[in-house]
Amino acid sequence: MKTITEPAREIDVIHETDVLIVGSGPGGLAAALGAARAGVDVTLVERFGCLGGNITAVGVEGFAWYRHDKTVDTEGVGREFESRAREAGAATPEPQSNSHAIDAEGFKLVADKLVEEAGVRPMMHRSFAAPIMDGDTICGIITESKAGREAILAKRVVDATGDADVAYRAGAQTVKTPIEEMQAASVMFSMSGVDKKKFIEAVKADPQTYKDWESGEWTVETTGKEDAMFSPFLRKPFKQAIDAGIIPPGLQTIAGTWGAIYDSGDLTYLNLVHLPECDGTDPDSMTRNEIEGRRQAMLAVEALRRFYPGCDTAKLRNFGMTIGIRDTRKILAAYDMREVDVREQGRFEDSVGIFPEFIDGYGILILPTTGRYFQVPYRTLLPKGVTNLLVAGRATGGDKVSHAATRNMMCCTVTGQGAGVAAALSVKHGIDLNAMDVTLLQGELKRQGVRLH
Ligand SMILES: Cc1cc2nc3c(=O)[nH]c(=O)nc-3n(C[C@H](O)[C@H](O)[C@H](O)COP(=O)(O)OP(=O)(O)OC[C@H]3O[C@@H](n4cnc5c(N)ncnc54)[C@H](O)[C@@H]3O)c2cc1C
Repeated sequence: MKTITEPAREIDVIHETDVLIVGSGPGGLAAALGAARAGVDVTLVERFGCLGGNITAVGVEGFAWYRHDKTVDTEGVGREFESRAREAGAATPEPQSNSHAIDAEGFKLVADKLVEEAGVRPMMHRSFAAPIMDGDTICGIITESKAGREAILAKRVVDATGDADVAYRAGAQTVKTPIEEMQAASVMFSMSGVDKKKFIEAVKADPQTYKDWESGEWTVETTGKEDAMFSPFLRKPFKQAIDAGIIPPGLQTIAGTWGAIYDSGDLTYLNLVHLPECDGTDPDSMTRNEIEGRRQAMLAVEALRRFYPGCDTAKLRNFGMTIGIRDTRKILAAYDMREVDVREQGRFEDSVGIFPEFIDGYGILILPTTGRYFQVPYRTLLPKGVTNLLVAGRATGGDKVSHAATRNMMCCTVTGQGAGVAAALSVKHGIDLNAMDVTLLQGELKRQGVRLH
């Protein structure tokens, strides 16, 4: 490939901080709040103009759709996201669980308020461009924005970009699922003008289950107990649309779940378009799939308008601001979570929190209906090859099946709060992140309301 040399240049250091969090999704937001509440100066860098990551930028509203009567759930800042959203009127009962779906727009305000209260300094509209390294130690980042390139120095950095952008560029070892096995990307969308009464009557007249997810190429491994449970699943209208020539016969993948319905006629978090082999670290791949995803979403809207009761007067309300990416780089960590850890209630002395036995991805669906749960070890946040850096959210260390559990937003808040608190204590007490005092860490997490065991 043809190359050019980028000239070296002086860059302004615009800010210095104790703990710098890059990315403000469930992982990064939880990290920022955890670190600030542990008493250090915290800065949160985000490429978009809102905080919340997939919740707000993609419109992933099903924050805890796994929760059932017997679920033993995470406790900590993630639960606060849900309760604060409810208090702010930015949440509504979620149809398949004992939880509330978070309103993607309303959560932008909730996140603003949470960081303001905690004294976190938000720096939005800045993309991480490069790490600032001293050997294998990260000392800050260079950002790219309308202001050009700027440097931010930090005593500790938490990579919460979802894609391990910081860890990867800093030289940490990372892995990516082979593209043909990657979880699909989705263009998420919402509709307005739905007749809620008619829609709900139709759902009740023909209730769908998790077993109904299976069809043709779609297979779902459950434990059996999930099969007869209700799922807000839609496939039949799209089959009818294929028969009617509205959706091309080759396009068998338009199907999935609806998330929330409002008296106002908004039908939101429509997770109906699945785009295989989209690499979320390749802008060309994302460009193609944004366009293809929007095309398919409009076919889905038309199918619902024609073939689902209550939708005949509906229209597209909005697409997510960006394509939803589920699966990219993961770090190789001091401990990589294994399938057996999430399937068989893994227990760890360095636990930073618990997450229920909820596995969703790579063709597996297991719901936490029994009270079983696993612990998340601190070492899974610790990348190999770079010091002063922790990773939070969906890029932590682990195999494919473990990620089908840990990628879920509530679990991302567990790794986020763990990373934020560890980074803060490491600054306060002058402890290397590789030599974290687990008793100290767990003591502060407990003080912050985290359930560790
Ligand atoms: C379509 C879809 C549906 C899903 N459904 C569910 C569900 O129902 N329930 C569930 O629990 N999980 C679901 N997930 C998974 C879940 O949303 C993610 O795994 C989770 O949000 C990951 O959290 P995170 O904080 O690691 O990353 P993200 O939520 O992706 O947040 C990362 C943040 O970092 C910012 N960022 C990235 N790169 C840079 C950079 N270079 N510079 C500056 N900022 C940067 C991003 O803008 C973003 O704000 C779904 C995912 C998708 C895509």
